[in-house]
Amino acid sequence: MKLYEFEAKEIARRYGVQVPKGYVASNPEEVYEYSSRIGGQVVLKSQVLVGGRGLAGGVVFANSPDEAFVKARNLLGSRIRGEIVEKVLVEEKICIERELYLSLTVDRGLRKLVYLASPLGGVEVEDLVKKHPEKLLKIAVDPVVGYRQFYSRALNKFLQLHLDLLNQLDSIMKAMFNIALDLDAELVEFNPLALTCSNELVALDAKIIIDDNSLFKHPEFMEKHGRDLSLYERKARELGFSYVELDGEVGVVANGAGLTMATMDTLLLHGVKPANFLDVGGGASADRVYSAVKLLLEHPKVKAVFINIFGGITRCDEIANGVVKALGETGFRKPVVVRMLGTNEEEGRRILLNSGIRVYTEVDDAIIELRRAVEAG
Ligand code: GDP
Ligand code: MN
Repeated sequence: MKLYEFEAKEIARRYGVQVPKGYVASNPEEVYEYSSRIGGQVVLKSQVLVGGRGLAGGVVFANSPDEAFVKARNLLGSRIRGEIVEKVLVEEKICIERELYLSLTVDRGLRKLVYLASPLGGVEVEDLVKKHPEKLLKIAVDPVVGYRQFYSRALNKFLQLHLDLLNQLDSIMKAMFNIALDLDAELVEFNPLALTCSNELVALDAKIIIDDNSLFKHPEFMEKHGRDLSLYERKARELGFSYVELDGEVGVVANGAGLTMATMDTLLLHGVKPANFLDVGGGASADRVYSAVKLLLEHPKVKAVFINIFGGITRCDEIANGVVKALGETGFRKPVVVRMLGTNEEEGRRILLNSGIRVYTEVDDAIIELRRAVEAG
């Protein structure tokens, strides 16, 4: 679960990391008031959960409360990368000497926490580091051994910071480590971590992602869980499906995580891009299949639906009835291709064919038909 910048900064502050003075506002009047309180130049930062706000116009500067008022009026209610801006963080504008990148994340392969750092912080860090891989330092930390001060020495040197910044860097790194452990964070990121004109390290931007699997330990986050989900992710969760949204155009329904993943791979192999991963689970009833297929048929990004079912405890006739019902309700506007075999296959096939839906036993044949349908539609 992603936290908003203002929430992440509150936490960072609590752990002793310097962040700019700021207030959260929901209307231009509040922005005016906070800007006057801060005095001087301010930064207005859209509180949305998508990244890259700066490049998308979600971070703006103002020289006076009046200017802040006008800019806030434009920002509030607008969309940044699809997300509506409901709150802005009004902050003092910091004079930046250098923008650094520093994060702490979990490396599952290493089973360790890993600091990632770069002197090329700011809005283009990903591209820059890709071009200059030597500008990225990784420091792996065994969570059982814990944080050690020498990590900050290595980093201080890599970032070519003056030695008198060592203590500050050390306490920031230690704070990140403690945040990660205390809150079960998958990511604690400061980008930029600014070296200010007055020679201090200040987290100008903060991002924290809490591991969803540990939310039960953190009731304060638990109650916010789900606010970062899309409409369809929320519906799928209410229905109890394992559902992940992807970038493609074909909705996928399969039963069992293994078959669902294999289906993803096979589709990609054929050059078909899945729009999602939806696992209806074992023994799915006609009702569940109906809800799953309907959800996908209503999804604006989905151009066609591919259903791949292996009938074990799942019965193909149940699947077929669910598919027919969903298609009937949505008016057969989008193509649906079914591949199924196993328990009650004959009965299932008969039900689908009666409704004019083609059924395949071979995955490859089904996907070729699917691709044809996508290209045609
Ligand atoms: P992001 O684009 O969502 O990552 O938003 P950031 O909070 O990282 O802001 C984007 C960029 O705006 C930063 O990399 C800075 O260059 C600039 N910026 C943000 N806050 C300040 C500030 O207080 N002072 C100055 N000079 N620049 C800022
Ligand atoms: Mn940033």
